[in-house]
Amino acid sequence: MSEHTNAFTMAQKQFDRVADLLGLDQQVREILRFPLREYHLRLPVQMDDGSIRVFQGYRVQHNDARGPAKGGIRFHPGETADTVRALAMWMTWKCAVADIPLGGGKGGVVVDPATLSMDEKERLSRAYVRSIWRNIGPRQDVPAPDVGTNPQMMGWMMDEYSTITGQYTPGVITGKPVGGGGSLGRREATGYGVIYTVRETMKHLKIDSTKTTAAIQGFGNVAQFVAEGFIKQLGGKVICVSYWDRDDRASYTVCKDDGIDLDFLVSITDQYGSINKDQAVGAGYTIEDGDEWITKEVDVLIPAALEGQVNGESVKKIHSRVKILAEGANGPTTPEADEVLKARGIFVIPDFLCNAGGVTTSYFEGVQNDMNFYWTKTEVLEKLDDKMTQAYASVYDMSKAQDVYMRDAAYMVAIDKVVKAMELRGWL
Ligand code: NAD
Repeated sequence: MSEHTNAFTMAQKQFDRVADLLGLDQQVREILRFPLREYHLRLPVQMDDGSIRVFQGYRVQHNDARGPAKGGIRFHPGETADTVRALAMWMTWKCAVADIPLGGGKGGVVVDPATLSMDEKERLSRAYVRSIWRNIGPRQDVPAPDVGTNPQMMGWMMDEYSTITGQYTPGVITGKPVGGGGSLGRREATGYGVIYTVRETMKHLKIDSTKTTAAIQGFGNVAQFVAEGFIKQLGGKVICVSYWDRDDRASYTVCKDDGIDLDFLVSITDQYGSINKDQAVGAGYTIEDGDEWITKEVDVLIPAALEGQVNGESVKKIHSRVKILAEGANGPTTPEADEVLKARGIFVIPDFLCNAGGVTTSYFEGVQNDMNFYWTKTEVLEKLDDKMTQAYASVYDMSKAQDVYMRDAAYMVAIDKVVKAMELRGWL
């Protein structure tokens, strides 16, 4: 990754900008620019053929002033310490903006999970927990699924932790399978949360959502429920989604001008969010280069795949019709691209507000684990909508009151809360 798109450099730049705007003390910056703790793990795992492969893993706890660190574990071949640091920092801001009593953490393993058998995935998941169990827990740091990991893996990790500690501890990890301590609504939560923030934005911009179109990057957990929400809740049309094709080692955009048929596309998509493009073509979809999603003549762009996708180059290709950029992914926009979006007046819903639905429902999951009492899906989604709507309002109001860009406003709301918690705890 270049200096331009190094995720941690980007996260620090975003923080520095707002630290300047807020006139933050040097000592506060010293704490918040870096993670409080990070663990680099070497994970020996027995493969099906009997050989031992050693995987590189990470767990980073950026800040836990407001509560236990919280954040997903990614299994991704391109994972780096810097990506995990950046994601951990963004989790601190995300939990603060969503106003849930948790801090920021993140984990990762350098691996392409698609190359592992089910048994190997289980052994890797358990090896990760055996390596880090002393430093995670319901009162320390609570992991969750993210890119390349899923509820089943969380179930194995929870089991490993419970076995080692000798106590059933569902609250050590969230995103578990329903019936195994998981919360109803978690699967939908991030995508629906994105949609709640798009809905609120459309209210402010006085846009009739039923007349809108969207282009989405990605077709995994987040993107599929974003698409569902955009079509079913907002009544709009999704005209393309993009994905990474593991066989071709290339990304593609799958398009249908009159709107995708979500159920059909989901039916030809594997568990990693990879679409069967031959079947898509057979059903009348056109296949374009993976970068094309950003060029589409739509009202809303929703990057929901990986970081650094809206950058100095790609931002120039955004169509003049685009009014809203909703950041479903973490860190999809580089600071350079931000300047262009700002100048063009495109309304950006910043990542750690936009995709906070996942962590908010993870928090609900932990609360249900603690109570040992579980809510219905409707109850969970209603609570999620309330939290997201409140979080959106706090950021929108800040952006109006201070006359600042939405991302800066979100940082202001978040940093203010984290600094207050650090003061209350006597760290400053
Ligand atoms: P996922 O693994 O389920 O899906 C990722 C999708 O992106 C897949 O469809 C994949 O094919 C596609 N993709 C990968 N590289 C691509 C490329 N170069 N071009 C186009 N498409 C590409 O992951 P997810 O859980 O949906 O997460 C997506 C993003 O949302 C990540 O940035 C993640 O950190 C963030 N996020 C996830 C959650 C959550 O609850 N899952 C919560 C908050 C934020």
